Amino acid sequence: MKGEIVFLGSGTSMGVPTLGCRCAVCTSSDKRNRRTRPSIAVEWQDGDAARTVVIDTGPDFREQALREDIRHVDAVFYTHAHSDHILGMDDLRPLSFQHRPELLPLYADDATAAVLRRNFDYTFDKDSPYPTKARVELHRMEGEDTAPVHGVRFQRVPVQHGRLTVGGYRFGRAAYLTDMSSIPESSLALLEGLDVLILDALRPQPHPSHANLSEAMRWVERVQPRRAWFTHMSHEVDHAATEATFPEHVRLSYDGLRIPIELTQ
Ligand SMILES: [Zn+2]
Ligand SMILES: [Zn+2]
Ligand SMILES: [Zn+2]
Repeated sequence: MKGEIVFLGSGTSMGVPTLGCRCAVCTSSDKRNRRTRPSIAVEWQDGDAARTVVIDTGPDFREQALREDIRHVDAVFYTHAHSDHILGMDDLRPLSFQHRPELLPLYADDATAAVLRRNFDYTFDKDSPYPTKARVELHRMEGEDTAPVHGVRFQRVPVQHGRLTVGGYRFGRAAYLTDMSSIPESSLALLEGLDVLILDALRPQPHPSHANLSEAMRWVERVQPRRAWFTHMSHEVDHAATEATFPEHVRLSYDGLRIPIELTQ
C-alpha cells in the first residue's frame, strides 16, 4: 500500500526564524529556512477514504493543518511531552467533532499522557463542564507496542532523547525519529529494511539531548536506509549550504515537503 509523508514542521522547539534573531538563516529568503515546530502527517488512500495520521501536534499545528489542507485526522501518535510536540493538542477540537461516533484516538506513553492530562485537564476530566472539549481518547503506547490504524501498523521505536526515553515511530518502510540523541541496540532491530528514515539533526555543534548533523549522519550509516531526511533543525542550519555537503541519499527536510512511502512492511 502506497502513502505519503508530509512534513508539517521541520524546525526545532523555538522555530526558525527564532524570535529576536537577525542571523543569515532567520532573515533568509529561502523558504526552506522557515521552519515551524516538528511534526509529520502520514497520508494514504483506504478504499474510498483518505486516511491521515499525525505524529505530534505542536504549537504550530493549526497553521500547518490549514497549509496542508488537513480536514480529517484518524489518529495522533505522540513522541514525548515537550511543548514543541504537544501544545497544539487543543486545536484538534474541530477535527475531533467530525470523528463521531468514536473519539479521536491519541496514542502516548504514560509519561506523555500524564502531561497531556495535566495541561488539558478540562479535556480529560470526565466531569469537566466545558461543552466543546476535544472528543479525544488516550491509548497507552509503551516500549515496542504497535497499533493498527485502518490497515497500517504503527510501531513505537524507543530512542534516547538525552536522559529521557521517548517514542519514535515506524510505519511500513519508513520511520520518524524526532528528538533523539541515540538509538538503543534493541531499537536498531526495529529499523531494518527502511526506504525512508527521518531523524533529528539539530545543528552543527553537539547537544546533550539531540543528534547534531554529523551524529545524525553516523546513524544513517548505521541504520542503512535507502534515503534519509533530517528534521528538528535550528537556525544554525542553512538549508542550501548544509545540503550541498551531503551525499545524494541524505537530504534536509523542509515544511511542506512530501515523500512517497510504502506502508506495507
Ligand atoms: Zn522537540
Ligand atoms: Zn537566527
Ligand atoms: Zn524534546
